[in-house]
Amino acid sequence: MLETKNYKFWFCTGSQDLYGDECLRNVADHSAKIVAAFNASGKLPYEVVLKPTLISQASIRQTMNDANNDPECAGVITWCHTFSPAKMWILGLKELTKPLCHLHTQFNEEIPYDTIDMDFMNENQSAHGDREYGHIVSRMGIEREIIVGHWANEKVQERIATWMITALGIIESSHIRVCRFGDNMNNVAVTEGDKVEAQIKFGWEIDHYNVNDVVEYVNAVSEADTNALVEEYYSKYKIIDDGRDAAEFRRHVAVQAQQEIGIEKFLVERDYQAVVTHFGMLGGLKQLPGLAIQRLMEKGYGFGAEGDWKTAAMVRLMKLMTANMKDAKGASLMEDYTYNLVPGKEGILQSHMMEVCPSCADGEIGIRVTPLSMGNREDPARLVFTSKTGPGVATSLVDLGNRFRLIINAVDCKKVEKPMPKLPVGTAFWTPQPDFATGCEAWILAGGAHHTAFSYDLTVDQMVAWGNAMGIETIVIDENTNIRDFKKELKLNSVYYR
Ligand code: MN
Repeated sequence: MLETKNYKFWFCTGSQDLYGDECLRNVADHSAKIVAAFNASGKLPYEVVLKPTLISQASIRQTMNDANNDPECAGVITWCHTFSPAKMWILGLKELTKPLCHLHTQFNEEIPYDTIDMDFMNENQSAHGDREYGHIVSRMGIEREIIVGHWANEKVQERIATWMITALGIIESSHIRVCRFGDNMNNVAVTEGDKVEAQIKFGWEIDHYNVNDVVEYVNAVSEADTNALVEEYYSKYKIIDDGRDAAEFRRHVAVQAQQEIGIEKFLVERDYQAVVTHFGMLGGLKQLPGLAIQRLMEKGYGFGAEGDWKTAAMVRLMKLMTANMKDAKGASLMEDYTYNLVPGKEGILQSHMMEVCPSCADGEIGIRVTPLSMGNREDPARLVFTSKTGPGVATSLVDLGNRFRLIINAVDCKKVEKPMPKLPVGTAFWTPQPDFATGCEAWILAGGAHHTAFSYDLTVDQMVAWGNAMGIETIVIDENTNIRDFKKELKLNSVYYR
């Protein structure tokens, strides 16, 4: 489910023929060494491919169009080694549709004090040649990442790695298709939005079905397949029966197993990667999908509850962006549920009725069957756990009527002080940056939702860069946030994005 293409990034060096063939041979040699070092570093999540040095308008234009047409090219890294007159780049840049990174580097790290002469200066002049290039990208208003520093520097390589993940999100966003069973929950505002504009901005296709269309798939799942999956659950998770009859408990779990198989088959056949349910619109489903949805999220599907297709698509996006990340800690739909307001221990208990992704779980995962306080179906089975600690990023994509705004909050995930033995749901607990009160105040000022798409593994900067590439407003709440400036920024944004 989380398989992405064999993505690669192109390394395109700019130069020209003013300084002769020997210089151009050196340029090509330097670029080859840099690319080889990148690929050997073990720091970059995707391979870098060296392209021939670009020294003319025709070759630049051709290469940018080749990048567009190669489905495995996820972005272009450019660097003007000597001097690459920027008018040569206009047509190529105008036609480039792939994410762009401007690596402002230089082959030598140190000035060679004893030997430096005019030939060396002419050959290694990205300090001025690369600014010529930067000028035209700025004049054309093209969104790009600029990374400054020596190519062998760890921090530079880490920034390239970070950008690659953003680029993947940019490339993959337009392949996200969301399947809604039913519609948005009645009377709820923040989960609503303009689906046409979402397709224009993000490339998301957002469709809907009658929930009974998937009920047919669920009912068609064989008993043998259902039992095999139930066995897997029983071997993988701790059974917390709360004194229920063992056979009755298992029957409830089996309903979720059947749902997991049936819903996934429906999504695979129709090529959907994200799904939305609604507890008030269950048709012939015996239970609200809980455990079933949790497992699908763990496999990489996006999910939003109560018709929240924006969060479903954002969760899918986060799953994709972190798909190739070593030791990724998890991503999920979360919901701000209840507060701890004890001074010094403030935080937000994150959960949902059931559907928190077990990728976030820390330690043992249990299965419980308990009544759902909403709706009119039988008690659903769900996975229960607490979540990992550490920094994370919580995002909320809201529709303000004339535009989308992506609210991005850096949060610190913690353990709650004591166990919560009566709580039958997976949970997380975090304190928003810069502190609880300021973080919540800013979130509310920005119009953030109670649902979030959350990731431990992505950063504020990556989400900002993704939002910028989509051409939407982004607003950050982090350690640097203060309310006075935040209000000012919202006002300025309302002018810029009107
Ligand atoms: Mn909800």
